[in-house]
Amino acid sequence: MCDKTSIYIHIPFCVKKCVYCDFYSKTDLSLIPGYINALQKEIEKRSGLKDAIDTIYFGGGTPSLLSAKEVETLLQTIGDCFSVASDVEVTFEVNPGTVDLNYLRELKNVGINRLSIGVQSFNDDKLKFLNRIHTAGQARNAIDYAGKAGFDNISMDLIYGIPFETKTAWLKDLKTAVTLMPPHLSCYMLTIEPGTPLHEQLKKGVIRPLGTSDMTVMFKQTSQFLGEAGYDHYEISNFSKGRQNRSKHNSKYWDMIPYYGFGAAAHSYDKKTRSWNYRSIDAYIKDICSGRLPVEDRETLTSRQTMIEMIMLRLRTLEGLDLKKFTTLFCVSFETRFKDILDHVLESSFGSVKDGRFALTLEGRAHLDSIVEAFAEKIL
Ligand code: SF4
Repeated sequence: MCDKTSIYIHIPFCVKKCVYCDFYSKTDLSLIPGYINALQKEIEKRSGLKDAIDTIYFGGGTPSLLSAKEVETLLQTIGDCFSVASDVEVTFEVNPGTVDLNYLRELKNVGINRLSIGVQSFNDDKLKFLNRIHTAGQARNAIDYAGKAGFDNISMDLIYGIPFETKTAWLKDLKTAVTLMPPHLSCYMLTIEPGTPLHEQLKKGVIRPLGTSDMTVMFKQTSQFLGEAGYDHYEISNFSKGRQNRSKHNSKYWDMIPYYGFGAAAHSYDKKTRSWNYRSIDAYIKDICSGRLPVEDRETLTSRQTMIEMIMLRLRTLEGLDLKKFTTLFCVSFETRFKDILDHVLESSFGSVKDGRFALTLEGRAHLDSIVEAFAEKIL
């Protein structure tokens, strides 16, 4: 591992499942204490005292189902096992249906310094359709409590492109979000994943998804509206008020910096190898209790895989791909290796090369998947 790395902690529990979600999580909350115990053991087993940690991220699932005491225990274990930087960013995902002012104050006291609030929408019908456990009122309260508890580093998650949603309705959500002035916003386009209740509804013809052109308009509308409101569109789904409010943790993913992932279904990456833990909480706990690491599998990335990944991740970002870094890493110039695709992207105004970086324009980012696919085909 290199000197500054990250830790992701997966908390795979939810009060109930949202219709669109394909993340691994369970609704049996009685498993939480045993799971926390197993998490501590995994952190201890994989401890790397020489590794400096500058970002920690509690994601889920619903981390806000943990007590502040449990969060404190996990942070203490990390502190005992790693060298945690004094300015570490510690992000915690909260579901508005699970928090009150007192809880957020407690989180602040145990060392959480950034909240990612799963608002999703300020429209109760939309929240109901998504099977969220909270109302728009609770979402507003959570944001209010976060401020009162002393959090100034707050991100809000929103989702758009659900079947009956109009562009006007989405814009209304964005306008409401902006009036609450979060320094960071994540706006995710709905994707209907196989295996989710929403996918079942789709198969039965109960819902009709929005078309690609509607989605593209909403994507651009989001970027334009938030841009006018002073947010940088620094990653395909992420917006921040200035560079200082970007997610440090996620920026490291897009920069392919190594990370430890702890917990069921968590992935880890050490620049050469990617490994992932068992998805099943039972299998995860069983392995830990038997003294084994709960790793289901691992793969060593080939140079081609790393190349595809780097292009895919960097083209998501505002700064794009550092061409010199690419040449150093792969011993070939990007412009030579991908001349045809690059020419096409530049001619179509889907991208530009400036200051040694290749980045996509907004129009290009709207076609990110097909552009990445073209690069991948050329590499494989
Ligand atoms: S709360 Fe989050 S993790 Fe849980 S089901 Fe809903 S979207 Fe998925």
